[in-house]
Amino acid sequence: MECLTCGKITDNKKEFYEVTGRVGLKYICKECAAELGYNNFFSVGIHTNTDLLKKYVKIHPEAQERLDLHIQRKLESNSREIEQIKGYGEKIKGCIDKIKSDAEEKRKYKNYKKMKETEFTCKACGNIYYFGLMDDIKNFSLIAADLGSLGNNIYAANNVKYRNQCPKCGSTRTTNREIYFYVDKKGNLVE
Ligand SMILES: [Zn+2]
Ligand SMILES: [Zn+2]
Repeated sequence: MECLTCGKITDNKKEFYEVTGRVGLKYICKECAAELGYNNFFSVGIHTNTDLLKKYVKIHPEAQERLDLHIQRKLESNSREIEQIKGYGEKIKGCIDKIKSDAEEKRKYKNYKKMKETEFTCKACGNIYYFGLMDDIKNFSLIAADLGSLGNNIYAANNVKYRNQCPKCGSTRTTNREIYFYVDKKGNLVE
């Protein structure tokens, strides 16, 4: 262990008192403590390491550097903690926002059915295509128009071997993403 104030290092626990402090060294040697006017564990223990170091520097100006380093460590630790707390705050806010928007979406679309479709994009020819839009959607063409370039790019999933193979050029260099939309009980697309 290392003495907070003079920097003496020894393994002998009996030569040290423990000091309080969230950051930094946690021990002071008995000699230094005595110099500061503390002769037992209790009188030392009620002071923080920062206070002890400050008091020590008044007697030993050469220890100023140790004090500066200590303060710097403390500041660094504080700003780390602040960043952490900020991080938690943002995470929690993100969760709350998601719950809110989920609930809002549920309310808005509570009478409708949520549909999921996979949209494929061919990297070779740029074709965008879809598979197996549910049979119970009646106004196919309307949905196709609303969903963009759907048009005649809807394919029955059972007609192809690999869903990731572009039906237009045959390339398997495709990416895909899930898209969601709502339909009412009659199968009409809901905005
Ligand atoms: Zn010491
Ligand atoms: Zn293609």
